[in-house]
Amino acid sequence: MSAFSILRIYLIAFLLFAFSPAVSRAFNLVIDPGHGGSDKGTFRGSFVESEIVLKIAQKLKADLEERAPAINIFVTRDRQSFIPLKDRVQIAHEKNADLFLSLHANSSTSAQVSGMEYYFSAQKNAPVFLKSKNAETAQTQQAIVAAIQNDLIEFGKTKQSLDFSKKIQSVWTSSEFGQKQSRTSKIRRAPFYVIENTQMPSVLVEVGFISNQREAKKLVTEVYQNELAHALSEAVLTFAGDFKEKSDK
Ligand SMILES: [Zn+2]
Repeated sequence: MSAFSILRIYLIAFLLFAFSPAVSRAFNLVIDPGHGGSDKGTFRGSFVESEIVLKIAQKLKADLEERAPAINIFVTRDRQSFIPLKDRVQIAHEKNADLFLSLHANSSTSAQVSGMEYYFSAQKNAPVFLKSKNAETAQTQQAIVAAIQNDLIEFGKTKQSLDFSKKIQSVWTSSEFGQKQSRTSKIRRAPFYVIENTQMPSVLVEVGFISNQREAKKLVTEVYQNELAHALSEAVLTFAGDFKEKSDK
């Protein structure tokens, strides 16, 4: 075989590889209703966080199953049971989640505070490698490469978690109930266990303040829960759409 024909085979192989669509797979979503069982979360009388977020999670699941049958949906709990935080993280990893969505309700010492809040994890501190006088060993080299890879994963996760937070905020603040919350709806960073320890894009949504009586009363109504679930579902759909576009490229 001439050098030219070998080159041609390589070129064809390269082109096939570069332009073949990646195998697209289903999108996996893990919904995590906070607290449960003996852990009620925050509560004021009959307004109980673990019950409110479970109802919203169930509505969100039903809404998504109807609108996007191709999305695989898993929940960390579907009843009033206690699930430790590390088990929730483990479920997300076992199910190979592309998105982890934790649902909570807020409380404040001020009865006036209201609105939805979206939390994504702050990037963890990367390990620092000090220059040693000795030559770098193969192990430290490996550790440095591993740290860089980890940084890239963390960076991607942070960016996508922020993107997803923005999607929910934008859908919610243009919905019938949410539009009054355009000033109080906030995106924040916080090191909550479940969003910090999951390796995929993860957002924790505080659906509203139970400490605000007006908001607590709304949070237990069917119509408000439906609207919340629908907004979350809409945001998941756009996020999953972006994900598919990227994996099809
Ligand atoms: Zn909570």
